Amino acid sequence: MYTAPPPLVDRYGRVHTDLRVSLTDRCNLRCTYCMPAEGLNWLPKAEVLTDDEIVRLVRIAVTRLGIRSIRLTGGEPLLRRGLPGLVARLTDLGPEVSLTTNGIGLARMAADLKSAGLHRVNVSLDTLRPERYAEITRRDRIADVFAGLAAAQAAGLAPVKINAVPVRGVNEDEILDLVEFAAEHGYLMRFIESMPLDAQGAWERDKMITADELLAVLTERWELIPVGRHGNAPAEEWRIAGTDTVVGVIASVTRPFCGGCDRVRLTADGQLRNCLFATQESDLRALLRGEADDPAIEQAWRNTIARKGPGHDINSADFVQPDRPMSAIGG
Ligand code: SAM
Ligand code: SF4
Repeated sequence: MYTAPPPLVDRYGRVHTDLRVSLTDRCNLRCTYCMPAEGLNWLPKAEVLTDDEIVRLVRIAVTRLGIRSIRLTGGEPLLRRGLPGLVARLTDLGPEVSLTTNGIGLARMAADLKSAGLHRVNVSLDTLRPERYAEITRRDRIADVFAGLAAAQAAGLAPVKINAVPVRGVNEDEILDLVEFAAEHGYLMRFIESMPLDAQGAWERDKMITADELLAVLTERWELIPVGRHGNAPAEEWRIAGTDTVVGVIASVTRPFCGGCDRVRLTADGQLRNCLFATQESDLRALLRGEADDPAIEQAWRNTIARKGPGHDINSADFVQPDRPMSAIGG
């Protein structure tokens, strides 16, 4: 008879069931709130986990630690060679597998990913205007993103969610347009407060559009009915009255949801992090490559979660931005 493994629980009683796996730190875009225009060093290939190593860690996470959902991310996860094959191996282990992507290349891969068992995709899109997209991402690729969204929808990777980071003076005038675009196409729109996780350390609090500001813009146009949060999901959701359109807001900075956090993160080079903002990591790659057995890896994993703090300190004067940027942690 199947017995569930003991939960992956921290000293505050938070049970961890969601694992973010970064498949690469590389990217084909250079979003201004994430990366500098040039000059970010990629991880050496030898340091990046192989498919077999990722599958082993996910097997341990699922069978020994109670992880139930996996989100693949990066850098840009679609750049990982043989991605559908890896997705098939991970879904075979039983968890729900989803993907966060910039959407470039998704048009070509969506059907294969769906056949491999992928459940859902989140696609990042901060603007509907080609010139502005090229300014934000420093690449002229918006047509690929639109094609990727449509292909994901057609492949049944539903609901397709769009993630946008509104930034003052950059794209905050498109909040309503993005919601209308998503509603027209049957996508789910979510806005993310910009966080101090860019590689160049140039985050400015004043440039962040807060959840309150976003909601003020939305309520000026529509009546919003709170839907709340699904379980421990980071997004708070609102439905536009009289419609099926739902808008989500991930307000990590102004409305932190650390108290319900159920996430743990694995970087592309095999470092385990108990928080997006953690300044310490556990080297699972060294254990894997040093012939550690499954119980030893399970224990290292449990120890990492046991050390997890109550929440991030973004709003405190003592806040220290982690050395790794978002693109190398896996957002
Ligand atoms: N490349 C993929 C993408 O863009 O979807 C996956 C990785 S990206 C780091 C994951 C998400 O993090 C994206 O939705 C992106 O907009 C968001 N992101 C990146 N830098 C951010 C920042 N400084 N603050 C808030 N969100 C950020
Ligand atoms: Fe690449 Fe995603 Fe970062 Fe943009 S947000 S530079 S697409 S990793």
